[in-house]
Amino acid sequence: MSVRKNLQNKIFGDILVLEFDKQKNTHAQWKCLCMPCNKVHFFSASNLKSGNTKSCPSCGQKISNGLEQDIYWDLKKGEKITHISKKYNVARSVVYRVEDLVNKEKDRKTE
Ligand SMILES: [Zn+2]
Repeated sequence: MSVRKNLQNKIFGDILVLEFDKQKNTHAQWKCLCMPCNKVHFFSASNLKSGNTKSCPSCGQKISNGLEQDIYWDLKKGEKITHISKKYNVARSVVYRVEDLVNKEKDRKTE
């Protein structure tokens, strides 16, 4: 079994990694959410991590800056938006978007 890094819930630029999709040849393919347009796309781990200039097929947003960010997990731990925004040097609007997704997930679980 090859070691596959778990990228679930990691954030690369404006992309949130939702879940592992499949192994495609030697590349791990992940199901991702483009936060600006809210559409699901599939990207390979290497494209996400290399900060490749590939863009979202729907909105044209650059998919990744190659920086792996734990915004999702920090929010779950209850860290403050302003703190997270400084920590990763991202706009607060990005953190709000992620917070939105975290809250939606909570709602789903309590239903
Ligand atoms: Zn998009």
